[in-house]
Amino acid sequence: MNKNFYANFFFFFFLFQLLFVDLNLYAINPLVLTSNLYLKDIIQQVTCNSIAVESILNTQDDPHTYQMVPHVRLLVAKSPIIVEIDPYLEPWLDKIPVQKNQKKFVMTKMLEEKKTSALIFDKQTGILNPHIWHSPILTKEIVIFLSIFLKENFPQFSNKISVCSKNYLNQIDDVVIKINQEFKNLPKEKKYLAMEHASLAYFAKEFGFENPNLLGISDESKPTFKQIYHFIQQLKAKKIHIIFPEMYDNSKSFEALASDSSLELGRPLFADSLGKLNSGADTVLGMWIQNSQAIKRSILGQ
Ligand SMILES: [Zn+2]
Repeated sequence: MNKNFYANFFFFFFLFQLLFVDLNLYAINPLVLTSNLYLKDIIQQVTCNSIAVESILNTQDDPHTYQMVPHVRLLVAKSPIIVEIDPYLEPWLDKIPVQKNQKKFVMTKMLEEKKTSALIFDKQTGILNPHIWHSPILTKEIVIFLSIFLKENFPQFSNKISVCSKNYLNQIDDVVIKINQEFKNLPKEKKYLAMEHASLAYFAKEFGFENPNLLGISDESKPTFKQIYHFIQQLKAKKIHIIFPEMYDNSKSFEALASDSSLELGRPLFADSLGKLNSGADTVLGMWIQNSQAIKRSILGQ
């Protein structure tokens, strides 16, 4: 075998890989494209997997800083239905104008139009907290909205969607009962979720936790020394000694904060994404349960 043989072999091997990957990408032709995995899971649950749905963001993608790559832009342009969370959270999605005959739905807009009282607005900026995937109350509103909309657009699955969405709403209620059970014996003075950004504000509010956070609703900015100092003072004043890092947070800033102060690090919580496939947290309900168990065990020192 000469060198040319190997060179040619690897050239064609990589060319094949490139083509294969490309073909795979273009073979994805979802009827519904969602911005994140939360919306994808809800649509799968509401339709019992009857409709092809894909999510732009994957497990470890940060919605606050995401940049679309060319094949995703193409996917956005040609998907007949797009469901997104919020334009403040996902400004990258608005870079592609809505195409003719394309339908686009913004979940926070729908919830604001319904004047849903469970919505939380940032105290400093007045901006709506976009982390609605941690709210069972808002998720139920979204399930109801999407089931109506999907029945209209996919009448062939209308009966199935009625049954599946009703079952899913019941499952949400059951999980809320289970989580409340999980937190039942936690003393009120220990119910603090100190986090880097206000990703779990809805979860905290609905399950009776205080939610001090360092950066507000966005995780894009780096905290200043002054912010960190005030945050630590705030926690000390309330006798909080546990801070919760975020799963898939590469900055490791909370790990550093814990090692520089007398604060303890709790178990990491799912903040901006669901968990990896087959982790148990790869569904919305599984993610809520895993977070609640992680919170309880951290607080009880288990
Ligand atoms: Zn976030």
